[in-house]
Amino acid sequence: MKSYLKDKKINTPTPSMQQYIQLKKKYSDMLLFYRMGDFYELFYEDAKKISNLINITLTKRGIYDGKPIPMAGIPYHALDNYLAKLVALGESIAICEQIGDSKKAGSLIERRVVRIVTPGTLSDEALMDEKQDNLLAAIWYEKEKFGYATLDVSSGRFIISEIDNQDNMVAELQRTNPAEILYPETIRKFTFLENYRNIRYRPIWEFDLSTAYKQLNRQFNTNNLHGFGVEKAKIALCAAGCLLQYVKDTQCVSLPHISSISLENKKNIIVMNATTQKNLELTKNLQGGTQNTLLDILDRTITPMGSRMLKRWIHTPIRNRCMLIHRQRSIVILQETFIKIRKILTKIQDLERISSRIALKSARPRDFTRMRYALKQFPLIQELFKNYSETHLKNIVYHIGYFESLYQLLERAIVEFPPAVLREGGVIASGYNNELDKWRTISRDCTSYLHDLEEKERKNTGIDTLKITYNRVHGYYIQIHRSHNHLIPNYYIRKQTLKNFERYTIPELKEYEKNVLLAQDKILSLEKELYNGLFDFFIPYLGALQRSARSLAELDVLSNLAERAISLNYVCPNISKETGIKIVAGRHPVIEQKIKNQTFIPNSLNLSQKERMLMITGPNMGGKSTYMRQNALIVLLSYIGSFVPANEAIIGPIDQIFTRIGASDDLSSGRSTFMVEMTETANILNNATKDSLILMDEIGRGTSTHDGLSLAWSCAEELIQRQSMTLFSTHYFELTQLQNKHPLIKNVHLNALEHNQSIIFMYNVKDGAIDNSYGLAVAALAGVPANVIERARKKSYELAKKNDLYEENRSSQYHYHLFYQKSMEKSIINLIDRLDLDNFTPHKALNWLYFLKKRINKKIQK
Ligand code: ADP
Repeated sequence: MKSYLKDKKINTPTPSMQQYIQLKKKYSDMLLFYRMGDFYELFYEDAKKISNLINITLTKRGIYDGKPIPMAGIPYHALDNYLAKLVALGESIAICEQIGDSKKAGSLIERRVVRIVTPGTLSDEALMDEKQDNLLAAIWYEKEKFGYATLDVSSGRFIISEIDNQDNMVAELQRTNPAEILYPETIRKFTFLENYRNIRYRPIWEFDLSTAYKQLNRQFNTNNLHGFGVEKAKIALCAAGCLLQYVKDTQCVSLPHISSISLENKKNIIVMNATTQKNLELTKNLQGGTQNTLLDILDRTITPMGSRMLKRWIHTPIRNRCMLIHRQRSIVILQETFIKIRKILTKIQDLERISSRIALKSARPRDFTRMRYALKQFPLIQELFKNYSETHLKNIVYHIGYFESLYQLLERAIVEFPPAVLREGGVIASGYNNELDKWRTISRDCTSYLHDLEEKERKNTGIDTLKITYNRVHGYYIQIHRSHNHLIPNYYIRKQTLKNFERYTIPELKEYEKNVLLAQDKILSLEKELYNGLFDFFIPYLGALQRSARSLAELDVLSNLAERAISLNYVCPNISKETGIKIVAGRHPVIEQKIKNQTFIPNSLNLSQKERMLMITGPNMGGKSTYMRQNALIVLLSYIGSFVPANEAIIGPIDQIFTRIGASDDLSSGRSTFMVEMTETANILNNATKDSLILMDEIGRGTSTHDGLSLAWSCAEELIQRQSMTLFSTHYFELTQLQNKHPLIKNVHLNALEHNQSIIFMYNVKDGAIDNSYGLAVAALAGVPANVIERARKKSYELAKKNDLYEENRSSQYHYHLFYQKSMEKSIINLIDRLDLDNFTPHKALNWLYFLKKRINKKIQK
């Protein structure tokens, strides 16, 4: 029976419960896993919570204050499993271990919280998604500005920025997607925070600027922060200070791998707001999944760190033309060698996270062997690139480095195939430490001694089936079947009786046990000591290892882009200094891969000083959105350094990409479709510059035709005034008249053909406006019943007549009528064309005229 149950009836908590209650006060906002022997126990509300969350049996322990104490427990060896489940649910867990000697009877064992696991501070491989950055973020708000800090504990990347409005803050949160956010508890709570589950409200003094300076300088071992270029970003530094404090509190160890901080300047990247990132389906599709996204097509990286870097690149296109050209040149070179490089990279794996686990002293034995295997590949990489002179690649390879001494150390220190955990030893290689070798020899000799003893006792007793065995509870014993009881010598001491067997010990076995246990204890404690010592060897190399891992990730991304460029038939875009976007025969990178049985129809784009806006018309499903998005994606790909799906691309300077696509209610914030549409439009109109690329898809749909058309009209005019590069698709035909008013606007359309009462989309972008919306034909294609289509057709005709638009053959509302008239004209032209006039008599001609008139009347009545 467990000791704490002995105090069942007493109305004061047992000493270990008192210890628990004290600790729990400190960790009141998280689950406390309290180690008791082979279990982690949870009590009171924690017990109820965990049993609800992950279905663990809720039991009781003793009584305190007249009430049973709720309890739930998990076996210690299953810790990782449970942590993974709880962290995925957004919980934080304080892990309290027994520090003192549990074998000492009588005294209360010392316990201490050794680690706190929170969703944003993970570094454990088992708890993380290898393809996802796991960020902790902190937000500070002051003078109508947001200070934002993020840290990836598993890589040491520490970045701050200052953000000047709420929309941009939302965009930044969407881009960085933090796993946990620290927010001051007593300042204004913005509604956007409601979308985030793991928000920890921190006391306001943790965001104090002077404390932040001190914290950061202490962490980086510096006197001031000038060297990092962050000194002036005071609002962001407040957030960084709180963040660093939180990480220190939770990790309970030093953090040598967090050795610098950088300020992200929005001027250096192409800014995309939250809606744009979502609409372009960069890393998530509109349903929230990862299929059919740009990343899905682009990511064939070999290492998880490469995959994470590519994702960051896609979310953060850069504007540094020189760097982009370097990336392009590297890709050109890597197109020759990517197969060899990628083969080497398969052996390197996630060096970035392994290095951080070593810095945090939480690396497991196989982290060391994986690092050893990775380091072994470095000379091959150096060899492969020794003759290349491209500066950027040379720089990458230089930073990958050699680490010969670390490799040699790991070769000597760790066995070839260590167990997953250090718990039972067997990790440190023989030959690494003399004392360890000595105790191992003693232990091994003991084992052969045991065989000899077993033989000897079989002879002494004459019992052939006598066996010497071991178990954790009873130690070593001699097991003999009861049928041999009469043969047991006097010096045998009974230890345990089972149904068919008796278990004994003898003085010699006792002595042996003492020695062997001593040797095993010694071996284990020595192994632990030596293992922990290994971490210290790495400390001086941590910075270089981080740079090396980052360079390897970049090499992976660039060779991935080289492979993609070849496999997907992409070309190198020209990043031009001149305003404009010229794309020849561009393709949508995702749709071209996904429409398996059809050919993707390439389309070109030419925006320049003279043509800043395309007014795009065409039937629904005609390919307007695809065309607009493909151009935005080609621009984005160009600005991450990638090659692009086109025959040729010349891309001028771009500062922002905006999209206003589709219509959806934002139910969570109580905004209607129209409200969402207008908020997004307002954001574009307030922020777009002449270097911005804007996709406006069907604006004005969410309100009356009259209002919608007027709004769309004036938005288009505003964007033209701002000279932004705009792709404007519309179903308001009236907007095509803008071309006459503003020479910077050009009308284009996606054409379609009507054939046998069915519609064929041609997906070709042609000059001019479309003269038919094909609305009823598309509805028919979608399966709207024939009688409904027929009624709609009549209604359309009626409306056309009523509004006196019959003659006005360019009305956007009544295209069907127009179409009808056109098809009638066509059939009449056909008939006339087929007439053999040479053989016509006047009578025959008159008859024909009667016939035609009748046909026209009949058609009109239809
Ligand atoms: P719209 O925006 O005009 O309603 P979409 O751009 O959504 O039309 O296109 C509808 C579908 O047509 C796409 O999902 C794709 O399957 C197909 N499509 C669009 N453009 C092309 C193209 N250029 N080549 C081949 N198929 C295309």
